[in-house]
Amino acid sequence: MAAIAIGHKNPDTDSIISAIAASDLLSRRGIDTRCAAQGAATPETAFVLERFGLRAPGIMDSVDGEDIYLVDYSDLAQAPSGMDTARVRGIIDHHKLGDVTTSMPIEAWIWPVGSTCTVLKGMYDFYNVKVARNVAGGMLCAILSDTVIFKSPTCTAQDRAAVEELAGIAGVDDPRALGMEMFKVKSAVHGVAPRELVFRDYKDFDMGGKKVGIGQLEVIDLALLEGVKDALKQEIAKLKAEGRHSVFLLLTDIMKEGSELLIASDDPAVVETAFEATLSGDSLWLPGVMSRKKQVVPNFEKAFK
Ligand code: MG
Ligand code: MG
Ligand code: MG
Repeated sequence: MAAIAIGHKNPDTDSIISAIAASDLLSRRGIDTRCAAQGAATPETAFVLERFGLRAPGIMDSVDGEDIYLVDYSDLAQAPSGMDTARVRGIIDHHKLGDVTTSMPIEAWIWPVGSTCTVLKGMYDFYNVKVARNVAGGMLCAILSDTVIFKSPTCTAQDRAAVEELAGIAGVDDPRALGMEMFKVKSAVHGVAPRELVFRDYKDFDMGGKKVGIGQLEVIDLALLEGVKDALKQEIAKLKAEGRHSVFLLLTDIMKEGSELLIASDDPAVVETAFEATLSGDSLWLPGVMSRKKQVVPNFEKAFK
């Protein structure tokens, strides 16, 4: 039975391409592995798959009884159902260590870098396996997506070096231009249901025993979201009413390099504590904030303690 490499819920480009690359590398090391995703590709990911002729991983919501490799997460909240009967054989990730535990020794590659695909590039090098041209193209896009074309504070020298090498393999002359093309696709939100937009890049967290959802939309110009902002506010209020203490949505302007935080909370004062700001209304502009993982989640975790 083949093992399965599977990314997190509400899959982003990094989690989908990581599953593809991990299953490729593991299989070439003699560990028969196929890739899976917990949902359909977003328009950004579909653009990347199409550009490099990669096939979208099969969709899977339960890993009951399977051998699995987790890519781009190690939190149970991000995992599929069936984790109690699945055998976790490995974790490849770039987030803080989550709450997944195992009964057997595992292969774990968790680096503090900008993207899981950067870790995977390191793994290909370590095992002396050449990255195929199409996989390299996907991986470099995943790194550009997660690091917001190197602008995110999560970006490291390893991410830049990986993109440069992968671009050489994939035959991409101008990775930044490709990154902008990708973010333009990501910015096309017109005519998309507000719920779909909220869930495009959304994660639930347990913060001090409270369920807190944080979503993020990254666009090349916040003006593109003007027409849908009210609908997004209504949608996160609805989502909060479905059993959460708070739901926050980051609207990130990748050119201005900052985010507007939309707030739906039982206790909006947590936002004031988290960002040492005074709140007026249901949103807050956070200059310089690009990364949920590094600049938002830790602040809220402290505020909820
Ligand atoms: Mg991810
Ligand atoms: Mg990632
Ligand atoms: Mg991201």
